[in-house]
Amino acid sequence: SGKFFVGGNWKCNGTKDSITKLVSDLNSAKLESDVDVVVAPPFVYLDLVKASLTDRIEVSAQNSWVGKGGAFTGEISVEQIKDLGCKWVILGHSERRHIIGEDDQFIGKKAAYALSEGLGVIACIGELLEEREAGKTFDVCFQQLKAFADAVPSWDNIVIAYEPVWAIGTGKVATPEQAQEVHVAVRDWLKKNVSEEVASKTRIIYGGSVNGGNCAELAKKEDIDGFLVGGASLKGPEFATIVNSVT
Ligand code: 13P
Repeated sequence: SGKFFVGGNWKCNGTKDSITKLVSDLNSAKLESDVDVVVAPPFVYLDLVKASLTDRIEVSAQNSWVGKGGAFTGEISVEQIKDLGCKWVILGHSERRHIIGEDDQFIGKKAAYALSEGLGVIACIGELLEEREAGKTFDVCFQQLKAFADAVPSWDNIVIAYEPVWAIGTGKVATPEQAQEVHVAVRDWLKKNVSEEVASKTRIIYGGSVNGGNCAELAKKEDIDGFLVGGASLKGPEFATIVNSVT
């Protein structure tokens, strides 16, 4: 449902040199026209990327401060992200939840603020391995989803990224069936708890060890509306292959 959406989350990687090379590879890549393509560089390179990257690809931040800027040492505001021409922000990534310690309510507030200022939000959810093994995958995802739903006034500008934590950076990609199963459950949750319209319109993308070799099988699944790519998004040609896996 909706246009295929592929995001590249560069995380805390890159130098001026490597990012300049990546941007030049992306600028010369042939990308299917019917796909929304977004990359999320580290904050310090947003300006460089925005200024040198083709307008075909939109730019996202990887995080944002929860409210208006001010005396918040080390934080970056939504207004500053917009000032550079960025259109998106990734919120609730598992690395921020589990390494930095952001909780559901804080992430929900961030989403509400970013949306109110006109940024699109890539809202991440996903279970830990022990939660999957304990049969809690749906419970965990629904709880994270509910925190977004309780906080945001509208779903018009949100893409949901299902990223099982055990699949992130591990090379252990979810099977197409495992991903599809959760995507269907998420859509069903939206239908019951938000609206039928939001459930059918909202894009649900998959993240976790997506690469040029496994993207095509995943992309065939009806409820996989795109990808959020980590490691493989640092290589221009491979990222282009993933973008072009749209079916
Ligand atoms: P990897 O593709 O490196 O597993 O990372 C996925 C991810 O966390 C994207 O946000």
